[in-house]
Amino acid sequence: MPDLIIRGPNVVLPDAIGPRAVHIEDGKIVAVIDYDQIASDCEVIEVDENSVVMPGLVDTHVHVNSPGRTEWEGFQTATRAAAAGGVTTLIDMPLNSIPPTTTLAGFNTKLETARNNCFIDVGFWGGVVPGNTSELARMFDAGVVGFKCFLVPSGVDEFPHVSEEHLREAMPELTRLGALLIVHAELPGPITSEGVHPESYETFLASRPRAAENEAIELMIRLSREFDTRVHIVHLSSADAVPVLRRAQAEGVKISAETCPHYLHFAAEEIAAGATEFKCCPPIRERENREALWEGLAGGVIDFIVSDHSPCPGEMKLRESGDFMKAWGGIASLQLRLPVVWTEARRRGFSLLDLARWLCANPAAQVSLQTQKGSIAVGHDADIVIWNPNAEFLVDANTLQHRHKISPYNGETLHGVVQKTFLRGKKIYDEAHFGDAKNGRLLIERQ
Ligand SMILES: [Zn+2]
Repeated sequence: MPDLIIRGPNVVLPDAIGPRAVHIEDGKIVAVIDYDQIASDCEVIEVDENSVVMPGLVDTHVHVNSPGRTEWEGFQTATRAAAAGGVTTLIDMPLNSIPPTTTLAGFNTKLETARNNCFIDVGFWGGVVPGNTSELARMFDAGVVGFKCFLVPSGVDEFPHVSEEHLREAMPELTRLGALLIVHAELPGPITSEGVHPESYETFLASRPRAAENEAIELMIRLSREFDTRVHIVHLSSADAVPVLRRAQAEGVKISAETCPHYLHFAAEEIAAGATEFKCCPPIRERENREALWEGLAGGVIDFIVSDHSPCPGEMKLRESGDFMKAWGGIASLQLRLPVVWTEARRRGFSLLDLARWLCANPAAQVSLQTQKGSIAVGHDADIVIWNPNAEFLVDANTLQHRHKISPYNGETLHGVVQKTFLRGKKIYDEAHFGDAKNGRLLIERQ
């Protein structure tokens, strides 16, 4: 017997949307059946025709920055923002926390910080830095989902970037483990750090040209082929790389890519002088580049969309001087990924099925959670978001739940209002009311 039924006319399944009743028992989906087949004696949540029932979102690119830089974000504030945005699983990045997740000891410190401190389920990436190859198996055995590296300075000293020589040492070990390597793919060569007008967005954009990404991706294709390592390009911004990736994928190279809401929504031409809340690396590029990224998603070369939630204290954005070259790069959009992507996707004729693949199923599969998360299917965790795709709202950064209320989306009107979020059958968000911060689990068991 189920202990909860969520039913409505618009339930988003892996390959169809229709009237269904989702039966939930002990936090798992035990049946997905005809709308009318009601079991007695259990709580029933009726969802009306204006709203959809979709899998809880999975966001595999989030910088929680804790321990060590908890004043930038932290597990409670990040996962609270996630719950309000319909996100039920996030994977924390290995850098910006101190210690970084580059040793088993660092990972254990992180787990202590996160335990009993999360509104949603949380997994962890480890890091590849120069000289830590002997730590990789130990971290992988302890439950990190895979490993991230940078090919350019990361912005924090305790997470140095790797060169090809370092990768030649680490990649055979990653292949042996069967671990995924995710890569911040910009090479230092084409990047400049000086500009005549640092408050002009054009100066910043010119300083991080597409070539830095394109060359890094060529390098990673070559190394993935040589070492047979699974490689994933994080936050792809240069659409020039889409045909390059398509060709490599067709040739059997194990390489995939993600992009982010800001690259799909904003355009460089529209960013005002000094508006450093738009700074991230790689940068937001031209309108024409944005449309080519959408084509990359449509064609399946880009697998999914994650937030790259990368917050910092407001003063680090240097809003007063408006210096793009010196401001911290990062956009905190964990809570807004659903409405931003939906607002742009619906405008281009994409469906809720596309949205659920990009925000739920495909990111779950990236971290081998596809039998547990990211779909409304029997046997999966009952992670569900109920939201209204036609309702609009005005973004007020002050009402966002992450720690520092700074957002380039402030003042935008977006489509898609999250109403309720369920984690393993438990309601964790309901129209501005939250569950408690002990509901989330740490995802450290290999599936
Ligand atoms: Zn990132």
